[in-house]
Amino acid sequence: MSDLDSKQIERMSAVFQAQKAAFEGERHRAYKDRIRDIDAIAALTVKHAEAIKDAAASDFGVRSRCETQLSEIAYMASAAKHTRRHLNSWMQKKKVAVPGNLKPGNAYIRREPKGVVGIISPWNYPFQLAFSPILAALAAGCRVMLKPSEFTPAMSDLMKSMLAEEFDENHVAVILGGPAVGEAFTKLPYDHLFYTGSTHVGRIVSKAAAENLTPVTLELGGKSPVIMADDFPAEKAGETLAFGKFLNAGQTCIAPDYVLTPKGKSRTVAESTIARVQKAYPDWATDEDYTAVVSDKHYERLNSMIEEARSAGAEILQAEGSDPGNARKIAPTVVLNPPEDSRLMQEEIFGPVLPILEHDGLDDAMKRVNAKDRPLALYVYAKSKKTARSVLEGTISGGAVVNNTMLHYSVEDLPFGGVGASGSGAYHGEYGFETFTHARSVFETPVWHPSRLIQPPYGKIFDMITKT
Ligand code: NAD
Repeated sequence: MSDLDSKQIERMSAVFQAQKAAFEGERHRAYKDRIRDIDAIAALTVKHAEAIKDAAASDFGVRSRCETQLSEIAYMASAAKHTRRHLNSWMQKKKVAVPGNLKPGNAYIRREPKGVVGIISPWNYPFQLAFSPILAALAAGCRVMLKPSEFTPAMSDLMKSMLAEEFDENHVAVILGGPAVGEAFTKLPYDHLFYTGSTHVGRIVSKAAAENLTPVTLELGGKSPVIMADDFPAEKAGETLAFGKFLNAGQTCIAPDYVLTPKGKSRTVAESTIARVQKAYPDWATDEDYTAVVSDKHYERLNSMIEEARSAGAEILQAEGSDPGNARKIAPTVVLNPPEDSRLMQEEIFGPVLPILEHDGLDDAMKRVNAKDRPLALYVYAKSKKTARSVLEGTISGGAVVNNTMLHYSVEDLPFGGVGASGSGAYHGEYGFETFTHARSVFETPVWHPSRLIQPPYGKIFDMITKT
């Protein structure tokens, strides 16, 4: 059954038109008003912190409150602080050099709000992945329509009521619904469309945006590999791999998806990962800090991927725990040497399952990574900086971390985004501000300017100026 009726489409269009009109009335939202908007986002995040944790717990069944605090609430508070601190300098016009034959004059770039922007967000970090692009769009002076995920209804309702406390609907509006609503949402002629979600839906969104020539940012997924070099102490790998993989039960776009270790080291890495995760969650089944899988559909998909690898002869290592009952929890799992053609090695896993395979040297590892779609993140484990750099040079990914996982996400001055099938465009910090603004080129000349000398009738002065 469709989750959309004609009334909803009309309402969505009406909100869009109201935002358009409001934007026309305030094309250059003043600095002080943008600061108010940023402060409102920060204040809402802090004020509703407990409600955000409750909503995430209700949507996932079990969602670690500490992980919600870390990855949704604290992240947003610090992103808002960063934006507030730097907005003034981001908004300044940027002067550029004027070539000698065009002098005198002033050339500069004005960063201007694009207008009404659409944001579509996923379920895995349902608060942060909606609020973070909203923050960037508001800092840029835009109006925002958000379509959050249908898989996290409690969080979507909460965000709608939170935002209504501080923003009129003609400034920030939330449209609730599933794929059909999403499809109608993407048909509106936004000034920018910002999509976070799967590569499959990213293609659909991109086509819809193209109909209106709407510029689009695609924050997608993919299989983010870990490449380990010979000089890395394999017994230490689990310390960081376990955190990267089992945070939010692996439902993280930049979670390490699979690991390629040197020959003879996969078992050590697997055992150190299981040992670390066992220490983190002595009984993962009852531990409130070990998150559940978001829906029955996702739960069944992950279990069937593990079973497929088991039937194909791969060795499965799992952390010990009691029976999770109906909690939709999957034991932290490591799979040794699954076949390359198994779903675990073909699809983005997006759950608490980590395949570990061996490579035949770094050239082989890079070749195998490069044979797949370009990943969102790539992790290099190498003691030697030279080795790490050679892996960076031999591969392409949206972002990368050396000797750790995921931490690049929290460095606000780094652009966050994918490349190829893992996305295009970026945000965070100034990159988010740039995404939602248009770089308008301005060249100011005096009333009489020597450029008149290159106008017809062409003659000696023209020849002199244009001589190559
Ligand atoms: P999804 O693509 O299923 O859904 C994302 C959003 O798109 C939801 O709001 C959904 O309702 C909407 N949608 C679904 N069909 C649509 C359509 N036809 N037209 C318009 N909108 C539609 O993704 P998901 O399952 O929520 O998220 C998981 C994926 O997102 C993973 O691949 C993950 O790697 C990726 N992801 C990427 C990032 C990133 O920052 N790059 C962050 C989180 C998740």
